[in-house]
Amino acid sequence: MNFRNIKNVPYYVFGKGAIRALGDLLKNVPHSENGRVVFCIDAFFKGRDLINLIPTGKKDIIFYIDTKDEPKNTDIDYLRDQVGSELPYCVVGIGGGITMDVAKALSNLLTNGGQAAQYQGWDLVKGQGIYKIGIPTLSGTGSESSRTCVLTDEARGIKLGMNSDFTMFDQLIMDPDLSVTVSRDQYFYTGMDTYFHCVESLRGSYRNVVVDALSEKAVEMCRQIFLSADMMSDENREKMMIASYLGGCAAGNVGVIHPVSAGLSIALKMHHGIANCYAMNVLEEFYPAEYAEYQTMMTKQKVKLPKGIGANLSNEKYQQLLNSSVIHEKPLTNALGKDFRKILTDEKMISLFKRM
Ligand code: ZN
Repeated sequence: MNFRNIKNVPYYVFGKGAIRALGDLLKNVPHSENGRVVFCIDAFFKGRDLINLIPTGKKDIIFYIDTKDEPKNTDIDYLRDQVGSELPYCVVGIGGGITMDVAKALSNLLTNGGQAAQYQGWDLVKGQGIYKIGIPTLSGTGSESSRTCVLTDEARGIKLGMNSDFTMFDQLIMDPDLSVTVSRDQYFYTGMDTYFHCVESLRGSYRNVVVDALSEKAVEMCRQIFLSADMMSDENREKMMIASYLGGCAAGNVGVIHPVSAGLSIALKMHHGIANCYAMNVLEEFYPAEYAEYQTMMTKQKVKLPKGIGANLSNEKYQQLLNSSVIHEKPLTNALGKDFRKILTDEKMISLFKRM
């Protein structure tokens, strides 16, 4: 077939307090009397009020996901081994992009077998995973609606997703009340991920009308949010949840920001959202208008990005930053054409990192 067949998340509930629908939604997922659910919950929520709203049963497994570091493919192998041979009927991910990606990857691995690393790439997942429910508590990555879950492969020095229709959630619960506890900096860094995905897509050469329409709307909403007096007002958190969802539906064709950000995550273990911000901070020549707008947003929201993180690193580190950025040929070609290495030479790339 010459046409790509596009999948979206089939069901979502949206609105303040929507998390209370989880119990009924779980009842509707076919399962035996002895069936169990695996919950992947951001460790941030351990002991907090949110936990009381989650209908867990005695047989269910709860994994509190440590989000200090981004998830590795071997972490997913470990969780799969913890679940054992008795498969759950549902995997529920409650948290930010990291936790949702872990839930998606675990669901795939439980039914597909082998090691998580085997499925990192384009359409390598062979069959349906366990039924997945996603409940974002932080908006911006678009993981809730995208067909990927990004995992670090330390052996290969690359961040790579299980990019597959099977990776998508079957059901979402989008409840803006859940993002009220996040810190302002984290909210900004993560929310800007939507803005960056979408402007990279709109500035690239791989385009289509649907993706452009979704991206334009998501960027417009980000402008309303981050150029307003309070990005975290009730109305703006609700809006951010939808912008992130739209951005996730549009995701795929990034440009220069995401490869540079991936280098920072691999070499300096930096989280994705803040790494994007560091990347954009030195990419004014490629995205002049968006760079200016991003600076205005940061000033308006009083968010700081400490300087000097790329100064005085070892040559080995600069080499690692360089390698783990330019390896992302598809987005860099999307942004700069197939001769992108004539523009992003070794010297050029290292000078960008030094300026951070
Ligand atoms: Zn991103």
